[in-house]
Amino acid sequence: MKIIGLLGGMSWESSLVYYKIVNEKVKEKLGGHHSCECVMYSVDFDAIKKLQFEGNWDELTHIMIDAAKKIEKGGAEMLTICTNTMHKMVPDIEKNISIPIVHIADATAEVIKAKGIKKVALLGTRFTMEQDFYKGRLTQNHGIEVLIPEGNDLEQVHNIIYNELVLGEIKQSSKEIYKLVIQKLVERGAEGVILGCTEIPLLIQQEDCTVPVFDTTQIHAEKTVEFALR
Ligand code: GLU
Repeated sequence: MKIIGLLGGMSWESSLVYYKIVNEKVKEKLGGHHSCECVMYSVDFDAIKKLQFEGNWDELTHIMIDAAKKIEKGGAEMLTICTNTMHKMVPDIEKNISIPIVHIADATAEVIKAKGIKKVALLGTRFTMEQDFYKGRLTQNHGIEVLIPEGNDLEQVHNIIYNELVLGEIKQSSKEIYKLVIQKLVERGAEGVILGCTEIPLLIQQEDCTVPVFDTTQIHAEKTVEFALR
């Protein structure tokens, strides 16, 4: 088993879920008293959030590279970055470490393609929904068409993540908003929906949707273990 590096804290609410899933999965695969060998570095999200909102991606890149290097020095043989948004920096991080990164969009795309789905809705932070690092990868590398919410819907999806979910607040009213946004995307032709922020699965589950749901936290954590055991 490879030693897994987890870059977490974005937010810790979902890093907790990652830690649980990687251990459960190792136990399921290897049985007995097996658990996951891992090194976790968890950042202070307050600083990250401020820099994201200022659009200071250069400083964020430095922070992510520094954290990834610490994880490599700590003995990790592979790296899993426990957030969709911060995959924006993957090309720069890759240049500065020598261990492989399990990319969350590639992991998710594999599961989408295995289901034969060609057009999906993407929910996540504004950065993930609007910028090209995630959507572009799904479209160019995997041939998956991506739809995102429009106008105020996009705004609400983004705000609920930062004002509630990363703080561990799960509200029924927000669940109803998400369900409506998803329904509109399904009406526009989405055959599935990517929960493309690692905290959204705390709010939305398969039973809330009429189309297949792709939980990026679950998928990414499972692919991480598959890679570690390969
Ligand atoms: N966990 C989130 C994501 O998957 C959002 C927090 C962040 O900005 O990293 O994108």
